[in-house]
Amino acid sequence: MSAGLNLAQQEAVNYLHGPCLVLAGAGSGKTRVITHKIGRLIQAGLEAERIAAITFTNKAAAEMRERAKQLVGRDARKVLICTFHALGVRMMRQDGSVLGLKQQFSILDTDDVTGILKDAGGTTDAATARTWQWTISGWKNAGLNAAEAAAQAKDGDEQMIAKIMARYEERLTAYQSVDFDDLIGMPLKLLRDFPQVRAKWQKMVGHVLVDEYQDTNATQYELLKLLVGERGRFTAVGDDDQSIYGWRGATLDNLRKLPVDYPALKVIKLEQNYRSTSAILRAANNVIQPNPKLFPKTLFSELGEGEPVRVVDCDSEEHEGERMVARIQSTRANGLAQEWKDFAVLYRANHQARVFEQALRKAAIPYKVSGGQSFFDRAEIRDLCAWLRLWVNNDDDPAFLRCVTTPKRGIGHQTLGSLGVFAGKYKLSLFEALFSSSLGSVLAARAVGSLHEFGRYVNDLEFRARHTLGAEAAKAFLLEWLKEIGYEKHLYDGEDNEKVAAARWTNVLDFIDWMSKRCGGEIDDAAGVAQSSERKNLLEVAQTIALLSTISEREKDQNVVTLSTLHAAKGLEWPHVILAGCVEGMLPFKPEDADGKPVSEAFTARLQEERRLMYVGITRAQRTLAVSWSKKRKKGRELVVAQPSRFIAEMALDKVTTREDPREKLKALRAEFAKKSADSAAAAAAANAP
Ligand code: ATP
Ligand code: MG
Repeated sequence: MSAGLNLAQQEAVNYLHGPCLVLAGAGSGKTRVITHKIGRLIQAGLEAERIAAITFTNKAAAEMRERAKQLVGRDARKVLICTFHALGVRMMRQDGSVLGLKQQFSILDTDDVTGILKDAGGTTDAATARTWQWTISGWKNAGLNAAEAAAQAKDGDEQMIAKIMARYEERLTAYQSVDFDDLIGMPLKLLRDFPQVRAKWQKMVGHVLVDEYQDTNATQYELLKLLVGERGRFTAVGDDDQSIYGWRGATLDNLRKLPVDYPALKVIKLEQNYRSTSAILRAANNVIQPNPKLFPKTLFSELGEGEPVRVVDCDSEEHEGERMVARIQSTRANGLAQEWKDFAVLYRANHQARVFEQALRKAAIPYKVSGGQSFFDRAEIRDLCAWLRLWVNNDDDPAFLRCVTTPKRGIGHQTLGSLGVFAGKYKLSLFEALFSSSLGSVLAARAVGSLHEFGRYVNDLEFRARHTLGAEAAKAFLLEWLKEIGYEKHLYDGEDNEKVAAARWTNVLDFIDWMSKRCGGEIDDAAGVAQSSERKNLLEVAQTIALLSTISEREKDQNVVTLSTLHAAKGLEWPHVILAGCVEGMLPFKPEDADGKPVSEAFTARLQEERRLMYVGITRAQRTLAVSWSKKRKKGRELVVAQPSRFIAEMALDKVTTREDPREKLKALRAEFAKKSADSAAAAAAANAP
């Protein structure tokens, strides 16, 4: 497993029996260490199924699975390569019952959560519900339950949100549902409060590898700690300069705490960057330089000076789009690139993609937007997912309400309202309530009849889904079901524009196709919760849909230009990168505090995170990098004058003095250090001399 690894990487890969932290800059081969170490552990006799490799996104997991397969062959399929959330699902499926959760629980996505919070807090305003969601998520990530949140609430507002949180949690329990934060918080509770469960998992997991460690939060730290136990067999790799999820609770304390909690921790630093040319690396080093350092790092590249980093000044955002297209075309014309997939355009926020999409479309250049609107956010896909969820978990009331009215089946709001009141009174889920023998006391016989018919149909579907194994059977069954509920007609009836309806129906068919393939084990289970290559029944496949954001997690194979947010580009690389929209107000996002005083501690911390985001962007580039900005930008409906990002100046592209070779500096430092040690050894020897 040492082929293609430098000495420091080999050291990390071969250190098998204790805690190990690889702390190194971008592109230095940290992720490569993880993939190779999976192979090394298997080679050393650890069963593949006892290795867990945790990545930050499903896409990264898919990528790593692929690389591991190339390195170690079929055994790689047995390794658990997944996100923290998917690991959480696996743990909850196996042991969640001790927390009162049935095996077939539902996983709610952000929209479901907003809906439930609106209901719990008595508002119709989604924006208000989302601010509650934000606060509650923060509390959950800090390990607080509703009572604890109430006890530490700072003001009346927080008191109120803590009360809403209590009602929200009650609803989740009733619906047998969990949100994304629970997928970390509940497994943590399992391991912390149930010694047998803890012992079982600690025995089962022989080594845990964690990529992008700098972006873990406090609950993930605790979960990891309990999972690896006292032996602490884990390998974490990360870069403090790439910590860009502070706003979501990620904390660099997790890096600081490791050597304290694990005195035997072996810390390995990597210094060679294998990704970028010296010109690109220098710009990156210059940008990150003003940030305080957790530890000193020197990165060098042997890929040569390369093309200079370009700054592209534009008059407007449309102009920026045009210049971006021109650059892509000229790079190809100059023979620097052959393929569209060699290019990425990266920007701060999703909405910036629109003008770049327009420009690419006009030039007939194929592209994909990654990290943008999720396939699963489309109304038609959400409809289908609600049905699947209801088959998996009958107690999922939000899914019940969507299915019973989509397509309409003559069960009206009044009937549902009465059913809801009845269910609330007897503490039943809507599904349980509809079969209750006393329902007739609150509803007319006809209404009860329609509800029974719906209930029996759902039961029937659940039975059929459970016995539908493999791709072909799944596809036939799903198409039959859509026919039974009249979904195609529902789409066309609800849409005046026939083209739009047709496009929606195509999405539906794509979705069916993809679900079937997953049942057949033909494509990897992107969430990594189940092993791939086995035939699965539809219910198993349906449960984890909420964890996915796209139906193809391995997008690399498509030969198209990538448009992506900087956050979604973490860990990835492209030969040619254009960092677009680099203006003050976008990157950095809010250059000043609301009151115009850019000096507070919070402001400084935010600016440092923005700088790291810029660093992440620059270091995605392998061969060429352009940074573009436009003199005018849209802010709401207005067109405002924009200033180039301060980070452009910080790249110090015109300063020749920065062109020293960092390796020379490193050599000098080492020589100086060696001399100092020799001097003090000599002094000590002299002092001890008789
Ligand atoms: P990031 O900080 O962006 O996550 P990273 O440290 O994880 O980066 P990798 O993605 O593992 O870095 O590696 C960057 C590139 O360098 C990849 O293309 C990888 O294949 C290559 N690489 C890493 N190590 C070596 C090596 N020893 N020899 C040759 N190429 C290498
Ligand atoms: Mg990496």
